[in-house]
Amino acid sequence: MAQVDDKLKDYEIRKEGEAEILLHKRNAVFYNPVQFLWKSISDQVVHSKFTSFYGFGCYFEFTISRYAREVEGLGKVVALDNDKASVEDCKRNIKFNGASATSEVEAYLVDARIHMLMHPKEFDVVDLDPYGSPSIFLDSAVQAVADGGLLMCTATDMAVLCGTNGEVCYSKYGSFPTKGKYCHEMALRILLASIEVHSSASEIKNTPLKLSYIYQCVGCDSFHLQCLARTVPKKNNGVKHVPAIGPVVPQECSDCGKKFNVGGPIWSAPIHDQDWELHDIPLFFSLHNIAGTVKCTSPSLVMFRSAVLNAGYRISSTHVNPLGVKSDAPWDVIWDIMRCWVKNHPIKEQPRDTPGTAILSKSPKLEANFSRAVAALSKARAKKIKRFLPNPERHWGPKVRAGRKITSKHVSLLGPEAINGAVNGGGDCHKEGNGAAAPDNTAPEPEGIKEVVENEPSIKRQKTSDEPASEP
Ligand SMILES: [Zn+2]
Repeated sequence: MAQVDDKLKDYEIRKEGEAEILLHKRNAVFYNPVQFLWKSISDQVVHSKFTSFYGFGCYFEFTISRYAREVEGLGKVVALDNDKASVEDCKRNIKFNGASATSEVEAYLVDARIHMLMHPKEFDVVDLDPYGSPSIFLDSAVQAVADGGLLMCTATDMAVLCGTNGEVCYSKYGSFPTKGKYCHEMALRILLASIEVHSSASEIKNTPLKLSYIYQCVGCDSFHLQCLARTVPKKNNGVKHVPAIGPVVPQECSDCGKKFNVGGPIWSAPIHDQDWELHDIPLFFSLHNIAGTVKCTSPSLVMFRSAVLNAGYRISSTHVNPLGVKSDAPWDVIWDIMRCWVKNHPIKEQPRDTPGTAILSKSPKLEANFSRAVAALSKARAKKIKRFLPNPERHWGPKVRAGRKITSKHVSLLGPEAINGAVNGGGDCHKEGNGAAAPDNTAPEPEGIKEVVENEPSIKRQKTSDEPASEP
């Protein structure tokens, strides 16, 4: 017994759901509590119908252990990593989780891409969870999923997908990001577009209808989507795909007169639950940002939503940002609403060459009606359901990547407790196991840390007038 205790002294036991894992104290950096909810959700999804499973990546010990312990009827779980220490940890934890886990789970030290390519369509579920970009695994992962199966993918290089480095994003995902408040939704849509291009030839012919380029005005908030293709009827039944007609925008923004950046392609087909937000409207804008562009105090969210609804268009919140709105109203209508708002809430004189001045120099064609529309409250707000919960503890979020130099910025963002663990264990942590032969370190700073910053709603530009614009 003393021997066992002695062996365990370097480990702490962490519990998630039904599973427990032994976490080496020096590797505490690899445990990310933020992923608990996601793992619980994926657990539920896998629960529903799947029986064979591929897991791979740094956090996989918990994921694998949880699948093995919690998902009934699971035939086989295969865990892959190219990092020896990770695979040993995984094997140790499979054993630690008892007989049921041991009989179902196999762990291999292997390049995950080669293994997956050698087992095409063999797995109902493939869960990619590398530390960094999943881009190099997408092709092999798509090939390994059985027809009707599920591919789960974690990308911790959100900063790249969000547009901090367009060149890196293009080199990894084949898509150029644009700058907008919608960056987190765009990130997901870039990843989806990138996965889609690896699908089979028969499926991919419909793909151009689901992909769009983004035209983002560099002066104001206006953005427009240009689909890659359209369908025309064939002579004898059916349809064929032909190039779309474009561009959807003039050379200069008709709202503010500035040029457009072109980004994408992104996945622009519906991805959201329509009970939650307008599912056919990709990307959103921020009410505070458009108020900031014309330098006015922002109308409340309810008033703005009412004005859009009263003008005959649809509008919804977005799950990404408390101040974000999705609408099918064209941008000239959105700006007309703001022009009418500014008429009643005058602003100080602004320099002549700003986009806001250009927008306000035009007279509105529409008389905005801000009186409260019945559907102006979001469903969540009407039911008094909180949609954007505070973090459960201070400095909530991923810890610093193993081996990374700790800066004062990390300390201020993540707190001294999170940093201490990384500093103490950082030197001899097992190196990141990407499952690939050559780990890819080209992603720039700050990855997960950036996430913490960008998840904060922007409150810098304007204060609201009547009531807070944010959700309850
Ligand atoms: Zn513009």
